[in-house]
Amino acid sequence: MNDVICPRCGVKMEFISEAETTNQRKTIRYFYRCPACGMKIADSQIALEKTENELIIRVQK
Ligand SMILES: [Zn+2]
Repeated sequence: MNDVICPRCGVKMEFISEAETTNQRKTIRYFYRCPACGMKIADSQIALEKTENELIIRVQK
């Protein structure tokens, strides 16, 4: 994976993932955060949805 540099201060950004669960659905967000100024750049988002007999995985870029 390539390093992402903060456009504001030129520092290497951290890769963070964040999961959120609601009733039938789980959303995982990936983003980069600058440790110096706190700026965030969104990467991809994955949604997992459970129905009665299947699990749907959606990737949003
Ligand atoms: Zn920064």
